[in-house]
Amino acid sequence: MKDETRLTRLGRPHDSRGLVNPGVERGSTILAPSAAQLYDFPPGMPHYGRVGLETQSALREALSGLQGGVGCALTSSGLLANTLAIMTVVEAGGTVLAADCIYGPVRSFLLNTLPRFGVKASFFEPRMGREIGDLITSDTQAILLESPGSLTMELQDIPAITGIAREKGVTTIIDDTWSAGLTMKPLALGIDLAAQSLTKYVGGHSDLLMGAVVARDEAMAQRLQTTERAFGIHTAPDDAYLALRGFRTMALRMQRSEATSLILADWLAARPEVGAIRHPVRSDHPDHAIFKRDFTGGCGLFSIELPGWDVARSERFLDALDIFGLGFSWGGYESLAIHCDPQLKRSATAHKHDGALIRFSCGLEAPEDLIADLEKGFAAVC
Ligand SMILES: *Cc1c(COP(=O)(O)O)cnc(C)c1O
Repeated sequence: MKDETRLTRLGRPHDSRGLVNPGVERGSTILAPSAAQLYDFPPGMPHYGRVGLETQSALREALSGLQGGVGCALTSSGLLANTLAIMTVVEAGGTVLAADCIYGPVRSFLLNTLPRFGVKASFFEPRMGREIGDLITSDTQAILLESPGSLTMELQDIPAITGIAREKGVTTIIDDTWSAGLTMKPLALGIDLAAQSLTKYVGGHSDLLMGAVVARDEAMAQRLQTTERAFGIHTAPDDAYLALRGFRTMALRMQRSEATSLILADWLAARPEVGAIRHPVRSDHPDHAIFKRDFTGGCGLFSIELPGWDVARSERFLDALDIFGLGFSWGGYESLAIHCDPQLKRSATAHKHDGALIRFSCGLEAPEDLIADLEKGFAAVC
């Protein structure tokens, strides 16, 4: 079956009442049928609400099924999905090798929190492939990817990296939010743990914070579940319900956002103010060949360079926009824009771009209206 079909079928209720959606099942206590069974619940049956009831298990099944994984942990945010994946695999004395483009708060976790537990981090230039083998040492426990980087849009050569990592016994983790586990299949490309923020395209309506980690094999799924349960991680059934509702329509929304983003990118490319367009779906993206090989589609998130622009000019441009909201997150029905420069952090190599970097998340509005909005932005800076 194609993914569009699977999105409609995965995570349906297993009972015989005929409902197509699981209920919002709330509960902490689950009564045991007898005293003897208090400590011996039947296998697969939850013994306590913290581990998730019907709603969460439907969502876990849906996400794991879409990605071809064998287990899934739900988290209260995408950030926690990343940190849980990392905590699942590291031990004191180890090092995490991370792409220099990873999400800022994950970088902070690696630099500020993990060292307290004896784990170090080092960063690599994100346009990396098999050469990463030269950076792997006997201390390397995990390689953390984000492809494309969600501000700067560089791609990593995932199969090349997972190939060498496997040869050297290193676990690979990806932050896979841009593809939402739909347009790229990290586990099939050899990744061990795929983390994503469901807050973005899966949620899709800017009213939900959630994350998920999907494991590639049984051993990794066991480690993931043990770590998830050790931390007492729980997500509310109402949130799981919203995420599963978003899951049903995400292919449509992503395709529409992508189509709009390509119209806008073409229009922007013809503007004299605009330099490089950073959109992996476009053939002028430096990593487009990798995109074509590993992805079946894109989404509405891309960035542009504005040569000679400083932060003040970016702010004037953004303040003149009306339909594009100014705010963090992305993947919602409404379009957003931010200037990235104040939050770009690099340690492997200085980040090279000309002037300012502005990122757009295209929502579901008519492209003509968004273009008229951008015109207002440019009018305000000249
Ligand atoms: C938003 C985002 C996160 C964090 O997700 P939250 O659900 O907001 O915690 C992690 N990684 C990427 C790439 C993101 O865009």
